[in-house]
Amino acid sequence: MTELTSTPKPSVASLPIQENISLQAYNTLSIAVLARWLVEVKDQEQLLAALTFVKQQQCPLLVLGGGSNVVLANDFSGLVILLKTQGMHIEDETAQDLLLSIAAGENWHDTVMYSVQQGWSGLENLALIPGSVGAAPIQNIGAYGVELVNCFEYLEGIDIATGEITRLNKSDCEFSYRESVFKHRLKDQFIITRVVLRLSKSPKHCLSYPALRDYFADIDHSLSSQDIAEAVMAIRQSKLPDPKDIPNAGSFFKNPIVDMAVFQALKKQFPDLIAYPQGDYYKLAAGWLIDHAGWKGKMVDGACMHAQQALVLTNPNGLSGMALLQFVQKIQADIQQKYGITLTIEPRVYQ
Ligand code: FAD
Ligand code: NAP
Repeated sequence: MTELTSTPKPSVASLPIQENISLQAYNTLSIAVLARWLVEVKDQEQLLAALTFVKQQQCPLLVLGGGSNVVLANDFSGLVILLKTQGMHIEDETAQDLLLSIAAGENWHDTVMYSVQQGWSGLENLALIPGSVGAAPIQNIGAYGVELVNCFEYLEGIDIATGEITRLNKSDCEFSYRESVFKHRLKDQFIITRVVLRLSKSPKHCLSYPALRDYFADIDHSLSSQDIAEAVMAIRQSKLPDPKDIPNAGSFFKNPIVDMAVFQALKKQFPDLIAYPQGDYYKLAAGWLIDHAGWKGKMVDGACMHAQQALVLTNPNGLSGMALLQFVQKIQADIQQKYGITLTIEPRVYQ
């Protein structure tokens, strides 16, 4: 960690803080909880002022980008900061690649589309992931064989306790599969304000996933980043529910990583089990476990695992976060009982 500059003096009085606001429009599961206070923050000065407010009130803090990876199970008694900081610029470039600096409040998918329109490569497989740039490092977002870490250079953010602006390099972030230091040691300690990515000026495509490979099976010309982003969008739109139509938070469970002995025992019992080697371990397709346990497309008390994608919990009937979690517990217990596997929830649960 490298400490950078001193912080400017913030002004709490100028903040547009709202009181007793529903968060239904601010989370993609469309859960209708109330926030005691909510503020939309457009620049670093407002962010620092919001942190001063939290200190003055001695209240909890919740930073939200697109609200696409949270389960809000209760009313929130503190301040919700909606991070809406904008802007991006090229920080450095060579003939081969460039460093793109992006404000945390920028929309992730818009950033991907901007980068592919420029002819840059690196982000194309990550098209159509909802949410903000600032949240992307939290779970090291990934899709179709590519993770944020593959093009990540560094990020900047605010240490909540001290107000200091701090830079974290790749190793500081401790990225792994859907994981980072921000889910552990720095959980609720740090607000990411800017992310810097290294993008290639020549194609560096990853077509390792069957769905993407099959999409281009009949194409014999070279592919652009934009071609790949558009293919990813088409595949995703064919199976994933748009939260605007059917509220959801994407994959609700992580794919469990198990050792060779567990994998072999399961494979013997369930020969069509889908799993992928990951170093010395195996990644089990959680969607397969849920599907084969009979939960795919099944509606229970108003909650449902999506018919086209068994990993996606949907909330078509506007259930509360608590009701959704009760449904989730039933699935977890069933998977544990049938396969001896613990399914871990991927979104952050706020109870
Ligand atoms: P939020 O839900 O707003 O926040 C998530 C967590 O990060 C919260 O704990 C929040 O406090 C924290 N946080 C947010 N911003 C900051 C910040 N600037 N600083 C510090 N903490 C912060 N994920 C994937 O990895 N791959 C996918 O392919 C994928 N597909 C999805 C498809 C759908 C339809 C949906 C609904 C979700 C999908 N997701 C996927 C999950 C989600 O989109 C990502 O995790 C995304 O990065 C969340 O961004 P967000 O801005 O909505 O985060
Ligand atoms: P898919 O392509 O049908 O694949 C099913 C599962 O098998 C995925 O979970 C994927 O793991 C794994 N997989 C497939 N091919 C693989 C390979 N060659 N090597 C290693 N693992 C492989 O999945 P999908 O549901 O349509 O989703 C497509 C991509 O978008 C996936 O990467 C998925 O993670 C991502 N996605 C994520 C979310 C989220 O909220 N986290 C939501 C929607 C989609 P991985 O999941 O590890 O890639």
